[in-house]
Amino acid sequence: GPEARLIAQYLPYFPFKGIPRFYDIGGFLSEPTVFARIIDIFASRYKHQNIDVIAGLDARGFILGPPLALALKKPFIMMRKKGKMPNSISSSGYDTEYGNRSGLTVQRDKIKSGDRVLIVDDLVATGGTLSSAIELVHLLGGTVVECACVVELKMFIDPTKESGLPSRSELFQK
Ligand code: IMP
Repeated sequence: GPEARLIAQYLPYFPFKGIPRFYDIGGFLSEPTVFARIIDIFASRYKHQNIDVIAGLDARGFILGPPLALALKKPFIMMRKKGKMPNSISSSGYDTEYGNRSGLTVQRDKIKSGDRVLIVDDLVATGGTLSSAIELVHLLGGTVVECACVVELKMFIDPTKESGLPSRSELFQK
């Protein structure tokens, strides 16, 4: 329906040619009823999962994470690009749809050993960015409950049966 069109709004060939579609959450951010529904859907999914901390990824996880953290009455923390925050640790570099990026950082005191962390970003493409965020949680002894994104780009190729790895549909049904 019209709401789905707002969520999946995309611009062809942005930010540069070779990228077939750039999905833009600006479409629903300017529609309060749609934005509120998205936060409600996430809040009802996570309210009984004993989340301790909500970690938003630089930069659009900083838009979606805080309203969810307030709805769940849990702390919000930032996972930022390098060189922005004191007393922080970094994950290794990672590959994304747009090439290699340096790792993410988080302040050391924001995740305690045993914390159950929910990671929030707008979109998952190759999963490189989320993997970097997961690495940070693990470095501090936390557990990742789930990664919550609004858009998933269907660009992964399922691992072969021989690899023994779970297929994408199995992973995303968990
Ligand atoms: P990945 O690391 O390849 O999964 O890419 C996901 C990261 O790149 C997220 O932080 C997204 O915000 C950003 N990204 C990749 N493609 C798009 C897009 O089409 N629209 C908005 N952000 C994107």
